[in-house]
Amino acid sequence: MKKKSREITLGSIKIGGANPPVIQTMITSPLNNIDEAVKEAETAYDLGCKVVRTAFKKGDKEENLKKLVKNFKGEIIADIHFDHKLALSAIDAGVSGIRINPGNIGGKEKVSEIIESAKKRTELAVRIGVNGGSLEKDILEKHGGVSWEGLVESSLRWAEYIENELGYKNFKVSAKSSNVTETVLACRKIRQHTDAPLHVGITEAGGGKRGIIKSSAGISVLLFEGLADTFRVSLTDTIEEEIKTGFNILKSLDLIENGVELISCPTCGRTHGEIISYYNKLEKLLDEKKWWLLPKMKIAVMGCEVNGPGEAKEADLGIALGKNCALYFEKGEIIKKFNDHSEAFEYLVRNLSL
Ligand code: SF4
Repeated sequence: MKKKSREITLGSIKIGGANPPVIQTMITSPLNNIDEAVKEAETAYDLGCKVVRTAFKKGDKEENLKKLVKNFKGEIIADIHFDHKLALSAIDAGVSGIRINPGNIGGKEKVSEIIESAKKRTELAVRIGVNGGSLEKDILEKHGGVSWEGLVESSLRWAEYIENELGYKNFKVSAKSSNVTETVLACRKIRQHTDAPLHVGITEAGGGKRGIIKSSAGISVLLFEGLADTFRVSLTDTIEEEIKTGFNILKSLDLIENGVELISCPTCGRTHGEIISYYNKLEKLLDEKKWWLLPKMKIAVMGCEVNGPGEAKEADLGIALGKNCALYFEKGEIIKKFNDHSEAFEYLVRNLSL
């Protein structure tokens, strides 16, 4: 894995360089319902997400954005479209970051005005957020519609303008598409031409398993290649699901130390007992306990006593079910035998001390 981006500042957080990838989410409560917005941002923080984006749109009061910034322990990013004055207002409100889509903000002059204002706050980061759905007309015409090459051209056009002509470096870039291949190809190319950190994600990925799988497919490749300095799992779902999925991706790639890993029998002709049911119960319990914030631990739930402990010997603790019996083991060593599957499962849960 290589990491070639430069480090930038987003409030109290450093992004890019040698820093670990940062998870972001986006609250759904409108700013004019400020109490709900603050509550939702706090929920994200308690789930381990320190960077929260909020839509800041026409009609939203700057005063509410200020309240959100003041009441949130983490970093607030304002998401701006169409009106550059909203970006200026968000900067005044004290946000840690703004996300603008240069393709719809009204041209170079407007972008320049935003950047000149951003320069006055050194801890403020700007994101140049290019999306497949809002590419500039000339780029769409040149490439015959939305393409990863168009995403690259638009991103670099603005990154080069901001860095070389306006002399501003505290920005990151994102080029998102709802297509995994297009997004990966665009991010790879962009990194070849700029060392600005990349915020990545698969936009409009959907919800449920479909959205999780699509997002994970794209984000994992980019994380593994060292191209994702910060990311959001964009799901048609709750922020809880987005954040949990984000941590699950990081854990699966060994990019976080903490958290509980669950290994389990994929089931076969040798499987004993209700292994799927025990697995589901355990997963539910671990989700409730926010497994991704717990100390490092590996748990195994195996379906046979012959291969079970052996296949899962690297697990800290686990059970292996047999015919009318079950084994409880720790690091491959059998500690206790049971004549009942449920008793073994309950013993395992008690020993987790969650
Ligand atoms: S753990 Fe045992 S039951 Fe489960 S898949 Fe492996 S061999 Fe089959």
